[in-house]
Amino acid sequence: MDALLKVEDLHVNFKTPFGMAKVLNGVSLYIKPQEIVSLVGETGCGKSITAKSILDVLPETSIISGKISLKDKDFLSIGKKERRTLIRSRIGYIPQNPMTSLNPVFTIGEVFFDLIKWHGKEIVPWRAYRKWKRHIKEERDIAIELLKKVHLPQPEDVLSKYPTQLSGGMRQRVLIAMSMIGNREFLIADEPTTALDVTIQKGIVELIKEKVEEERLSVLYITHNLGVAKYLSNRIYVMYAGDIVEFGPSESLLRNPLHPYTQGLLNSIPKLVKTGFSGIPGRLPSYITPPEGCRFSPRCPKSMEICNNIKPPLKEVEEGHFVRCHLYGKDN
Ligand code: SF4
Repeated sequence: MDALLKVEDLHVNFKTPFGMAKVLNGVSLYIKPQEIVSLVGETGCGKSITAKSILDVLPETSIISGKISLKDKDFLSIGKKERRTLIRSRIGYIPQNPMTSLNPVFTIGEVFFDLIKWHGKEIVPWRAYRKWKRHIKEERDIAIELLKKVHLPQPEDVLSKYPTQLSGGMRQRVLIAMSMIGNREFLIADEPTTALDVTIQKGIVELIKEKVEEERLSVLYITHNLGVAKYLSNRIYVMYAGDIVEFGPSESLLRNPLHPYTQGLLNSIPKLVKTGFSGIPGRLPSYITPPEGCRFSPRCPKSMEICNNIKPPLKEVEEGHFVRCHLYGKDN
């Protein structure tokens, strides 16, 4: 089956006062229609930069190269205006922090109406609406319908509220409803439960799963929680310091993690039945002076000489299960 979204050899650098930060180091990934794929890795490894590259919201200081295509339409080769219209009409986005993602000076209704109006112009030109009041009524009906879909009680009431008058869980439900406006095929969820209480997280994850199945969407789900990734996804990509180091079917990758970083991530999860757990010593390398070979080499317990100089290629070790490490294949 052809991929719906394809990212090929994506490099993202940032100009800084200290030199060029080489953050994404040739990221490639694909997502098939109606597939949920997770991108996991520790904070600062480049997950959100990947999402921002797809959404075309990187800061001005960034330099991007590679290919990002949705249904074979290469975003990076078309004009900015066409690119942004295409992205905003086809890709939904659930942000990381519901506390800061809604403008506190507008009511939920005002933001909703604005978004619905923007999406509506694709189907019905603004001039075609006969009366402004009727237009607002149509938008209100759509907004109420969407809020009902995310199980928010009294949606009419929610529309008149300011973000600060809602709880964190309610705000995240509002953002999920907003991500479903229009004719979306693809959704990016960027750690949507990170800022929420653990008791609310489960409800939000269940809601995303339910909506994705109902709307038959493809999803890139960004998380550092391997349990959530396993629960939601068909496949998992593991990212370290701007490189995809391992990817494969969720079951195969978690049953048989191959890359020392993936193994370290799994060993970092505290378990209630055990007294201890090991983490990964050290920290992410500087992106201005990253290691020349494998970017994980300064922290890797199995590092060899070749690892310091040569970036390992991706190798398929099981069907559909790839790893980027000199421990596997010919180089071993
Ligand atoms: Fe460790 Fe070398 Fe594999 Fe990198 S390539 S993960 S340093 S063994």
